[in-house]
Amino acid sequence: MRPTNPRLHIGNYEGALRNWVNLQNQGYEMFCMVADWHALTTMFDDSSTIGANSIEIAKDYIAAGIDPDKSPIFVQSHVKEHAELHVLFSMITPLGWLERTPTYKEKKDEMGSNEREPYGLLGYPVLQTADILLYRPFGVPVGRDQAPHLEIGNDIGARFNRLFNCEVFSEYKYLIPQDETRAKLPGLDMRKMSKSYDNCIYLSDTAEETAAKLKSAYTTPSKIRKTDPGIPEGCAVCQYLKVYSSTWESQWDEDVRGERGCMQNKSECVEAINEYFRPMRERRAQLNDGEVREILRKGAERASAVAAETMTEVRSAMGLLA
Ligand code: AMP
Repeated sequence: MRPTNPRLHIGNYEGALRNWVNLQNQGYEMFCMVADWHALTTMFDDSSTIGANSIEIAKDYIAAGIDPDKSPIFVQSHVKEHAELHVLFSMITPLGWLERTPTYKEKKDEMGSNEREPYGLLGYPVLQTADILLYRPFGVPVGRDQAPHLEIGNDIGARFNRLFNCEVFSEYKYLIPQDETRAKLPGLDMRKMSKSYDNCIYLSDTAEETAAKLKSAYTTPSKIRKTDPGIPEGCAVCQYLKVYSSTWESQWDEDVRGERGCMQNKSECVEAINEYFRPMRERRAQLNDGEVREILRKGAERASAVAAETMTEVRSAMGLLA
């Protein structure tokens, strides 16, 4: 996760973090990074909050159930091997692969003028590849929007092996949530949940904040009276019920049949979301910055030990002087 914001939203949780916790609990060793250098690709002119945000993001990881004793949690810039592998990969990555990345095209269009587009934005997938391949993982759990970057990563790993006639890297899997709603959770306005649209419910929102936000959430526009039929597929509140309410099927049925109104959906949705996130919110409130810094320091140490082994093999495969 990029610390562009001090808080993760429930879309980040559903698309990635929930999966991290499940995998950890199935016994996988998880390396959980706070991607502070990646935040700079878009925040280079306003970077003063990145450090403080990094601590807050680590709190969200821990609150969501990442156990730092099992899974190292660390900040990217604390493990210098990420920069070294990025430089080496940048030497072997064809420009065309990067220019074709959909997220690059999107961000470039958003920026408008070519003149101010930083080199780091184009190289983002190369750095991300270094982040992944340093740990030579079985798989990478992310939201669907990250899939094109992950493809480039496997291509770069394969190209490295071919060029240097070695088998340092093997192909990793993309672990994307199978459930469509979770892989791309809608925001309060039914666009993709994203900080830039200001349509988020945050993991760390209070119960009251969650209730206030859901009050103005997007529902079926043609459902004016309770008896009008709802279209749950296009209603943000019904989408959240599907994810957080154990009785969503009957709630949807009643909505479609015009047997319940949007107000009832909203109040039951507030209850379901607050119930689901309450333990995480409580855990988060108990964490202090000093404790989290220490977790990040230890996490970086454990990550560095693994990353250093990979770099020894990489330098040797390339023929660099040991
Ligand atoms: P970002 O901060 O946009 O780089 O996202 C961090 C992680 O959260 C990535 O793995 C994304 O795929 C995932 N993510 C972001 N927004 C959503 C969303 N609305 N629904 C599901 N996953 C998301």
